[in-house]
Amino acid sequence: MDWVNTLKRLRLLSIVSTLGMKTGIARRFVAGESMEEALQEVEELNRKGILVTLDILGENVMGKKDTGEVSREYCKLLNEIQKRKLQANISVKLTHLGLDFDRTVCIENMEKILKKAEEGHNFVRIDMEGSRYTQSTLEVFSELWKKHKNLGVVIQSMLRRSCEDIQKLTEAKARIRLVKGAYQEPASIAYQEMGEIRKNFIRLMEKLVSEGNYPAIATHDDILIQRTQKFAHERGFPKDRFEFQMLYGLRTRFQEELARQGYNIRAYVPYGPHWLPYFIRRLQERRENVMFILKNLFKR
Ligand SMILES: Cc1cc2nc3c(=O)[nH]c(=O)nc-3n(C[C@H](O)[C@H](O)[C@H](O)COP(=O)(O)OP(=O)(O)OC[C@H]3O[C@@H](n4cnc5c(N)ncnc54)[C@H](O)[C@@H]3O)c2cc1C
Repeated sequence: MDWVNTLKRLRLLSIVSTLGMKTGIARRFVAGESMEEALQEVEELNRKGILVTLDILGENVMGKKDTGEVSREYCKLLNEIQKRKLQANISVKLTHLGLDFDRTVCIENMEKILKKAEEGHNFVRIDMEGSRYTQSTLEVFSELWKKHKNLGVVIQSMLRRSCEDIQKLTEAKARIRLVKGAYQEPASIAYQEMGEIRKNFIRLMEKLVSEGNYPAIATHDDILIQRTQKFAHERGFPKDRFEFQMLYGLRTRFQEELARQGYNIRAYVPYGPHWLPYFIRRLQERRENVMFILKNLFKR
């Protein structure tokens, strides 16, 4: 059953989008609409030994002026991270910064963010969007990587091309976050079955943990987390050779448990007023997330 379309038909998503942040429903996955709210969450997570990557929500922004504002907002965020001495870096989406309409504008915006991050010895990760953007995202990454080594990118195990991409990126010593992939993709380019996506994830994880540059293994999936721990342990790799990453609001006790066990664990903390597309992707991933929304809507 397509739960998200059912919610749309019942107009429940538009109710959530109007009331969402006020009623706290969207807060399950989003740290708030303002930078201050998000920074308070970072402080709380850091106190628990959890590292953070902060994401200002937004994608497919058109217009030089608007994308320029996004890059200024990221620079402000980097300033605050440095000022408050937070254990946090940032994640960005290239279509938030101009990739959809002008690659040169996007690169200029990224340059500003990367220079600001360099001043504070900080790191910037480019999130991976739908397959329409895979090639252009990797091209922009490669161009920026020549000058900026405080940059990383994301590879999706659902895509058939990912093995080849990881080979090239590993040779270039790029920092990679490995995920399954959050977008629906056609069978011609992407594995469709969870078994195949997991199998590819394990293959790529093993390559990254043994040869990669401080890879991020980003999943909530017990099978994949345990396989990563077992692989690293059997090969004698130290726990800090990689980090685990999970999304804000998901498996929070488990995140704390991994930190207690001595693993580097980073929470992906998104915030900002444009939270609906991100929120819908989280609903599409797990029936339990939809149930959470329904329960909370009808509680009121
Ligand atoms: C830090 C981070 C960054 C990401 N960045 C990107 C990106 O740039 N581009 C992109 O396309 N995607 C990104 N994603 C999303 C990713 O691609 C997946 O869509 C998402 O992580 C869901 O896949 P999963 O492996 O976590 O678990 P799923 O496939 O959703 O679930 C698999 C199994 O994991 C367990 N599980 C999952 N969630 C829970 C839970 N809440 N509680 C208990 N058990 C659970 C269950 O056993 C479940 O059956 C990111 C994910 C993370 C964690």
